[in-house]
Amino acid sequence: MALQQQQILKEEIISLKDRYGRSPCLAVIMVGTDQASQVYVRNKERVCQRIGIQSKTYLYDDIEEEALILLIQALNEDDHVDGILIEMPLPKHIKTQRVLETIDSRKDVDGFHPDNIAHLFLGEPGLRPCTPEGMMVMLDNIGYSLEGKEVVVVGRSHIVGKPVALMALNRHATVTICHSRTKNLKEVCQRADVLIVAVGKAKLITASYVKEGAVVLDVGINRDEEGKLCGDVDFEEVQKKAAYITPVPGGVGALTVTMLMKNTIEAYKMKGETSWIID
Ligand code: NAP
Repeated sequence: MALQQQQILKEEIISLKDRYGRSPCLAVIMVGTDQASQVYVRNKERVCQRIGIQSKTYLYDDIEEEALILLIQALNEDDHVDGILIEMPLPKHIKTQRVLETIDSRKDVDGFHPDNIAHLFLGEPGLRPCTPEGMMVMLDNIGYSLEGKEVVVVGRSHIVGKPVALMALNRHATVTICHSRTKNLKEVCQRADVLIVAVGKAKLITASYVKEGAVVLDVGINRDEEGKLCGDVDFEEVQKKAAYITPVPGGVGALTVTMLMKNTIEAYKMKGETSWIID
C-alpha cells in the first residue's frame, strides 16, 4: 500500500514541478547518535529520492538548544525549504516543545505544532500527524467507513493515540481512549469494531481482547524475545479473528514515511497557492 501511495505522489510531483518550477524540499534534523533514528533518517532520504522530493539532512552528535533554534529559524526563512522535521527523541538538555513550536506551522510536516493540533481538534484543514493520518489512508484504501463504529484506541500519546482518536471522532466514530490506568482493558477492547494499539509493549493484545471480525491497526514497534521486530498485537493469533490486521513491520510504519512525503507536498502546494513565499 505504501509503494502504491508513493507512486501517486511521484506522479503528482512531476506535474507540480512543471507548474511551480522546482521540486518540494524536506529538511530533516537529527541530534544524537541513536542508531534506530539514523536508520529512520536514511529511510526518509531514500523515499524522498524515490519520489522526487529534495532532501536536506542535518546530523549533529549534539548541539546547543540556541543553535538548534537558530537553524530552524533559518530553515523557516528559506524559500526553498517546504517541510522541516525534527527526528525524535531530542537529547534531554533540549526543550522539545520549544523546538517544535519554533518550526513555522506551515512547514510543520510532522503535524506536531500547536496550530496544526488546533486545526485537527477543530476538524479544519492543516498538516496532520503522519502515523495517525497513515491509518486513515489505510482505512480509506480498504473502503472502511468509521461512521457509527466503536473505535478503541490503546495509548494516549501526543503523536499517535490522541490524534488518531480525534481523527476517528472527526469521521463520526464513537471513540474510547485507553491508557496505563484503564480498568478492564480487555473488556473495553472486546467491544471495538476498530482496535488501534499504540503502546510499545510486545504482544500486549492477544486474541481474547479482540472481537470476531474487528479491524486491528497495530502501531507498536518492539523486539520480541528472539530480537525480531514485532508489534503490540499478537499477530499470529489475532489474525485468525480479525477481518483486517496490519503486520509489524510493513504495516502502519510503512505508511508513516509516505504521509510525511504527502505533508511535504501539501506544504509546498500551500506555499504555491497562497504565494506566502514567492519563488
Ligand atoms: P508513548 O508515548 O510511550 O505512549 C504509550 C501509551 O501507552 C501511553 O499512553 C501509556 O499510558 C499507554 N500504556 C502503557 N502501558 C499500557 C498498558 N499496559 N495498557 C494500556 N495502555 C498502556 O508511545 P508512542 O510514542 O505513542 O508509541 C507507541 C508505540 O508505537 C511504540 O512502540 C512506538 O515505537 C510505536 N510508534 C510507531 C510509529 C510508526 O510509524 N509505526 C510511530 C510512532 C510510534 P499512560 O499515558 O497512562 O502512560
